[in-house]
Amino acid sequence: MPRDPRFDILFEPLKIGPVTTKNRFYQVPHCTGSGWHKPRTLAGLREVKAEGGWGVVNTEYCSIHPSSDDSPHPSASLWDKGDIKSHALMTEKVHAHGALAGVELVIGGSQMANLASREVALAPSNLMNTSGNPFQTRAMDKSDIKNVRIWHRNAALRAKEAGFDIVYVYATHGYLISQFLSPRTNKRIDEYGGCLGNRIRFMREIIEDTKEAVGDTMAVAVRFSAETNAHKSGGDGNPIPGETEEILGLLGEFPDLWDININDYSLEMGLSRFTKEASLTPYVKGIKELTSKPVVTVGRFTSPDTMLAQIKGGIVDLIGAARPSIADPFLPKKIEEGKFEDIRECIGCNICYVGDGKGVPIRCTQNPTMSEEWRSGWHPEKINKKISDASVLIIGAGPTGLEAAHALGKRGYKVMLTEASRELGGRVSSEAKLPGLSQWARVRDYRLQQIEKLPNVEVFRESRMTHDQTIEVGAEHIAIATGAEWRRDGFGGTHLNGIDGLKHSPNLFTPDDIMAGNLPDGPTIIYDDDNYYMGSVIAEKIKASGVPTTIVTPQDMISSWGAYTTDRWRSQSNLMKLGVKIICAKSLKKFNGKKAEFECIYTNSKSTISANSIVLITARKPNDELYHSLLMHEKNYPGTTFKSLKKIGDCDAPAIIAAAIYAGHKYARELEETIDYDNPFKHDRVFFEDT
Ligand code: ADP
Ligand code: SF4
Repeated sequence: MPRDPRFDILFEPLKIGPVTTKNRFYQVPHCTGSGWHKPRTLAGLREVKAEGGWGVVNTEYCSIHPSSDDSPHPSASLWDKGDIKSHALMTEKVHAHGALAGVELVIGGSQMANLASREVALAPSNLMNTSGNPFQTRAMDKSDIKNVRIWHRNAALRAKEAGFDIVYVYATHGYLISQFLSPRTNKRIDEYGGCLGNRIRFMREIIEDTKEAVGDTMAVAVRFSAETNAHKSGGDGNPIPGETEEILGLLGEFPDLWDININDYSLEMGLSRFTKEASLTPYVKGIKELTSKPVVTVGRFTSPDTMLAQIKGGIVDLIGAARPSIADPFLPKKIEEGKFEDIRECIGCNICYVGDGKGVPIRCTQNPTMSEEWRSGWHPEKINKKISDASVLIIGAGPTGLEAAHALGKRGYKVMLTEASRELGGRVSSEAKLPGLSQWARVRDYRLQQIEKLPNVEVFRESRMTHDQTIEVGAEHIAIATGAEWRRDGFGGTHLNGIDGLKHSPNLFTPDDIMAGNLPDGPTIIYDDDNYYMGSVIAEKIKASGVPTTIVTPQDMISSWGAYTTDRWRSQSNLMKLGVKIICAKSLKKFNGKKAEFECIYTNSKSTISANSIVLITARKPNDELYHSLLMHEKNYPGTTFKSLKKIGDCDAPAIIAAAIYAGHKYARELEETIDYDNPFKHDRVFFEDT
């Protein structure tokens, strides 16, 4: 389909200093969890973005020198010639698709403890490490400032050699340059501290050095916070520009591009639970009046109309995206070709951010091919053709079953997808009804839209399959995707034998009850041994029904795993504001419908809380009875009824939604293929020569 002319403006080229982007789709720097360790994985990941139509494709934050070492977080690096070769893998691939390649150089400041390099970290003043490590920085003297300028310049030269078109001066997110800007972290009394003119000196010098070194052929971008120097975070829609205007007034024309964001990650890359599309607009609007240079920002833009409004409204010149480009690397192409219904919209869950925190290649709930491009040869838009005319029966239409059916359908198999209930989507449909989780439904909706276009995929609702019915269908391959249910016996991370007698207690609920609309009466305890988002959304839901609500966890904080997705901070502050009582480090022992008994995880001391009801958020039990009975059938009548039987997704091993989508996709990709299970994918690592 030809492009709707309304969107032409998104496809206009734009000059950025000495280079020109072919369109307005700009993949801002974002972490991949592959960093300097996995250059081929990274090159494959960035390549599909360029192939998918992004005009600019950037790296993640890229360390200039061993004194900026964020280990164990896997940043990129440009320390030596080996790094140049690693990055060249990416720039070549990005250029092959007509896109520009950008690199975000970073100088760590007190954010980095240099745990691997053991260098002393450098900052404007003697500061505590801001990532919680028991290290302090050296207050930079004049020779340190000189050295850092040289290191940054050299890294920019290496970036040029690696083939980059855009190089960043990274002046936000609490790294070194922003620490010079802020009076909170810059306590100097020399010409680099004190008045604003002094505090911007280091940033100006770094921009000038970079321009002088590579500015003839490379664009110099500055990543900068629209709330720099605010003494506190502005909060949603309430920007506090502080000295932003003054800084832009002084330096607005120095770089070739301004990449504007804010310091508060939990808003900038906010979860859909708490922030909506275009959440930075209140901060960014007005920036263009302060500079003639192109401006870009992010905002989890997935709607072409919102993108249009951003550019037509004069807020930005380029549509910045990290997460939308992860969920759908082909988003620009799909807009260009008018295939709006094919856009795989980001759901704002931040599972992609976990890769950086955990030091593993990023995965995405919506896009199971993320980080698999090179190692498994998976492409987000193309799939291997079917091997035979065999038919496949998939039982259960949760995220696992939907993805398996969708991907197998695209392979060309004849697929029958059966679902017990009327509503499709399984857990995502149920969870989408909980507070703040409505965008989970995008997981279902994208797949249903795709399945509707596939005549070879049939969907049967209200078709709960029994053993005999499954055999009667006569499919050659059977995938059991029947999901899991929340346990009622206390079995979980802290109780590996469950809790004696608990399942017979009165007024005991699980998230399945709450999602089915069965709410408790009277004071209620949420016992959260799951440590992710479910505890806090259930607490919010129950509190909203008007009953006194207490959330208790054996961990030291609410939503401890949510630290990796940014759920944790906002969950806790949200519950506190709603008046939910929070109790940490207590393990449940008993509940009798009147009170619950807990044990302190440190001292074993006992305490009780009066409550009528309790909601258990512990482990989930796979719904695998059908699988086991079919397995028995296969044993008794080998090879006579079906060729293969497999359980996939939560029915196999309950986990996050991203794992369910991945399991469904993997099943589909691998069906009837020959897989070397000893060596299932290519193993990436650096093995370049030192020189
Ligand atoms: P997953 O995350 O692995 O997709 P879900 O729990 O979200 O798991 O989805 C499982 C789906 O399977 C649910 O929609 C459920 O209604 C359906 N289901 C469970 N048992 C059967 C069955 N015997 N026949 C058909 N559908 C089933
Ligand atoms: Fe969006 Fe979640 Fe994918 Fe990240 S993991 S890109 S937040 S859908």
